[in-house]
Amino acid sequence: MSGPTPHPWPAYRWPDGQRSAFCFTVDVDATGPYLWGQRAPDAPRRLGQLEQRHFGQRSGVWRLMDLLDRFGIKGTLFVPGAIAEQNPGLLPAILQRGHQAGLHGWFHELVADSTDSEFTAALEASVELFRRQTGTAPQGFRSPAWEMTPHMLAELQRLGLWDSSLMGADHPYEIAGVTEVPVQWALDDAILYKFSALPGDRTPVTPGAVLDSWSEEWEGQHQYGGLTMLTVHDWISGRVQRLRVLEKLLARVTAAPDCWVATVGEVAAWHAAGNSGRFVAEATIPEPIEPRRFR
Ligand SMILES: [Zn+2]
Repeated sequence: MSGPTPHPWPAYRWPDGQRSAFCFTVDVDATGPYLWGQRAPDAPRRLGQLEQRHFGQRSGVWRLMDLLDRFGIKGTLFVPGAIAEQNPGLLPAILQRGHQAGLHGWFHELVADSTDSEFTAALEASVELFRRQTGTAPQGFRSPAWEMTPHMLAELQRLGLWDSSLMGADHPYEIAGVTEVPVQWALDDAILYKFSALPGDRTPVTPGAVLDSWSEEWEGQHQYGGLTMLTVHDWISGRVQRLRVLEKLLARVTAAPDCWVATVGEVAAWHAAGNSGRFVAEATIPEPIEPRRFR
């Protein structure tokens, strides 16, 4: 089949016996955004925000992996290059514990503030560091703040990486020749919990309400045969009351015999084997046009 898939898109095919899929992912941002030097829009000049994020590397990411291990679940952890460089034991520990690691920029650069060549340089440096620290090649990428461009997709295709940054479906699909294992804001802990006493920060949502919301989404995806892509952060959901929410959610998910709990890489590989060519999207950004005259 060539060209984009006509609408409506058909039902997704999961492995035999599975009704839906669930991925547990951790974006290990830590202090990455603040290491971007003067270009970070909110780079701190004092210690409070830095220490809040250091918690993620000291405790949060390890507690999250301990939780996954207790349930026998394999997660996918996306680590910025600068954080892996600062903490050289992190990527090897993730892999040694059986989890998957993916790329997440070098400094967690925001796409809107980066040039194409800066993106390519950061991606290539991240791949090289990953190989050096783990002796293996990375398989996938997640964009900081979940924004993408056609150039970024072309670079992922060139390097043979899958992506997990876009929201064009609630199951895997292909865009510009790249396997996309999609995210969604409703399953991101940052929009619910993130609070640093910065202008515009809102009071965090209570853990009980988050458990209700995420449980509702998971039950819905299980009903509709989709993918529940949960995304948490080391320094946000590594806090104990949030770990307890995750524990309760995982107890519900793992009690279902027909929900496939897998790494993002396993889901991407399944897509290539079982659904390739069935869900195809183009990466086109329309040119600005003149306002249309209606009469
Ligand atoms: Zn991030």
